[in-house]
Amino acid sequence: MSAPNIETIVSLAKRRGFVFPASEIYGGLGSSWDYGSLGVELANNIKQSWWRWLVHERDDIEGLDSSIIQNRLVWKYSGHETTFSDPLVDCRTCKGRFRLDKLQDVQCPKHPSLHPGEDKECDLTEAREFNLMFRTTVGAVSTDEDENALAYLRPETAQGIFINFANVLNTSRRKLPFGIAQIGKAFRNEVTPGNFIFRTREFEQMEMEYFCRPEDAPRILQEFIDAFQEWFYTLGISAANLKLYEQTPEELAHYAERTVDILYRFFPERDDEEKQFDELMGIANRKDFDLKAHSKKPEDAEGKRINSDSTEDLSYFDEATKQRFYPYVIEPAVGVNRTLLAILMDAYTEKINDKSETRVILKLKPELAPIKVAVLPLAKNKPEIVAMAKDLKKQLLPAMRTVYDDTGGIGKLYARQDEIGTPFCVTVDHESLEDNAVTVRDRDTWEQERVNISELKEYLQKHLG
Ligand code: ATP
Repeated sequence: MSAPNIETIVSLAKRRGFVFPASEIYGGLGSSWDYGSLGVELANNIKQSWWRWLVHERDDIEGLDSSIIQNRLVWKYSGHETTFSDPLVDCRTCKGRFRLDKLQDVQCPKHPSLHPGEDKECDLTEAREFNLMFRTTVGAVSTDEDENALAYLRPETAQGIFINFANVLNTSRRKLPFGIAQIGKAFRNEVTPGNFIFRTREFEQMEMEYFCRPEDAPRILQEFIDAFQEWFYTLGISAANLKLYEQTPEELAHYAERTVDILYRFFPERDDEEKQFDELMGIANRKDFDLKAHSKKPEDAEGKRINSDSTEDLSYFDEATKQRFYPYVIEPAVGVNRTLLAILMDAYTEKINDKSETRVILKLKPELAPIKVAVLPLAKNKPEIVAMAKDLKKQLLPAMRTVYDDTGGIGKLYARQDEIGTPFCVTVDHESLEDNAVTVRDRDTWEQERVNISELKEYLQKHLG
């Protein structure tokens, strides 16, 4: 089973310390969220899994960490200043503001059972383009309108990679094909953020730009589509909740040859099966658009340089064929936050205990679980048991994230760990003092096994994978 809706995860996330509404003590800030002690661990584990898989386990991808604020010209030549916008409509009746292409995803403020525009009272304006980039000014300027100081918070991490193509190529001495990977924050002034961490104005991306010969691009694109589906399976997301979506020619970005989105069933409560799915990530063949756009040499049809500001030519010289060309780019772009939401939704399970009570189990893959082991004393008023449990925690800590908890009865402690996805609970009881063994309880099966303390670390390591 998985979560019946996002709201179930919102309440679990707040109750247990995964995600909190941001600025809550001041009334919040629409669609901004803070990640608590468990949320930040889960997000870090997701990022580490991605980084290890792409940068460390393969031998053809380099890492990068570029600036959030870049020269404004980056966003001029990438096309974001002119084209990174959404069509926005206002409702003259309710004064609501909506994204024209997402009307079906939001409720009419006056008639929540309908979408904006569906009620006869709705009076929507013509659509106008709204640029999504957050503006800021750099340096001590006289006014906020000072065009010379204007800069943007990056709306994607990708451009930081393109403008560093030559730096990475020259310093790493790579040959095509190779990729550059980056994880970092991105900012978009979304017209209609919402659905918890699915769409926010500040979010995190894991993007990789894979540079290749034009003729290899279609094959490599397909390879990454297959590989990323597999990666999501390894994170515990079930195939039944994932779906591929081939963008139609009308939907494709002007520079893209083919884009396939991997969708997740974020909205299982919707009647229409098609509408249950929404984008988790996109994988695009961006052709040679980006490297050309940031290069000083390419010219348009009239012989005019398309970029009169760049000081670099981002072409590639192929030693074997003695040819110079602009590599094609395959871009798999994943959202950290949407991945985290999909993982929480997919791991969510309910189980009835022997007292007919419903218990929540978060069946996270051990690799992703924020806490791997909880050590629980069966009697907290017995100093020898408490001391043994605390000592065990210390022994396990360097190898795996372990917590000690004695703040309730054993049933309550188990339930709490199940709900946050801790794979194993280790219970120290009276017998432990005699036989030097503890009870190890499995989160998913609730089965218990007696394990000698001298073998405990090895036992847990083996089962955690
Ligand atoms: P959407 O169509 O949902 O607005 P997009 O196609 O514009 O998304 P991309 O530009 O392809 O998104 O960004 C890559 C990934 O970054 C997305 O697949 C998603 O996981 C994540 N992402 C994009 N925008 C947001 C956002 N506002 N909040 C959270 N994650 C986002």
